[in-house]
Amino acid sequence: MRLKDRVALITGGTSGIGEATALLFAKEGAKVAVTGRNGERGAAVVAKIKEFGSDGIFVRADVSVADDCRRAVDETVRAFGRLDILFNNAGVFYPQTALECSEREWDEQIDVNLKGTFLMSKCALPAMIAQKSGIIVNNSSGWGIVGGDHAVAYCASKGGVVLMTKAMAIDHGAQGIRVNCICPGDVETPMLPQDAKMRGLKWEDYLAGCANRPLARIGTVEEIAKAVLFLASDDASFMTGAALVVDGGGTAD
Ligand code: NAP
Repeated sequence: MRLKDRVALITGGTSGIGEATALLFAKEGAKVAVTGRNGERGAAVVAKIKEFGSDGIFVRADVSVADDCRRAVDETVRAFGRLDILFNNAGVFYPQTALECSEREWDEQIDVNLKGTFLMSKCALPAMIAQKSGIIVNNSSGWGIVGGDHAVAYCASKGGVVLMTKAMAIDHGAQGIRVNCICPGDVETPMLPQDAKMRGLKWEDYLAGCANRPLARIGTVEEIAKAVLFLASDDASFMTGAALVVDGGGTAD
């Protein structure tokens, strides 16, 4: 029970890495506010959280909209009395070069992945500063530290998340707030088959392309959730401003 009685808010908790992290946090004793735009999937995640004997709520919120971010934090604090952990996880990815990426698609990826992380953090900080403690974990990507093909807006947004993490760690360390990010490699979530489809690749061929990496496979959502749990727990009490790479060695060379 490494998060016993802690209150966590997870953006994009309705699917993939966010859902797995919400469930692991609940197993570890946290009360979890799950946010996203899909109410049906959000309610299903909250039901699973309750099966673990913990408490949870769903708040419908688009992270690119400031009012939604404010409401997500307010409803979490109203329901559970405090906010200890913010996992900025919501994200979108369209595989495109600069020539292929429209202005609208550029804006969407920057608004969700980068501005959403800024807006949610800005809304959560006052409650954390008042408590003199708080933990923010941002979800960047291996493509936040190295470039990737057909990922112009995604790489721009995720690289921004890494340096925003470091900037916020510097600004808020003295207020008792730790800010770190994870940089996952390819992980089996709905995001990857969509990537394969947009690249015109069969799923088997897509997976074969991942086999030349040191661990020769893609990751599971549980493997990423465990790294998020580490950063969100007291086990990482001396870590802030770090970018923790969890990618099966994909960025090692
Ligand atoms: P996923 O299963 O597609 O989940 C994406 C989540 O983001 C969903 O819960 C979705 O919720 C939410 N979301 C998207 N747009 C949103 C918006 N405007 N406002 C609020 N929520 C929004 O993909 P995933 O792989 O778990 O992705 C989670 C994070 O991991 C992303 O930041 C992604 O960039 C990062 N990541 C993934 C991989 C990978 O290989 N899968 C690798 C590196 C990094 P709703 O649909 O309910 O809005």
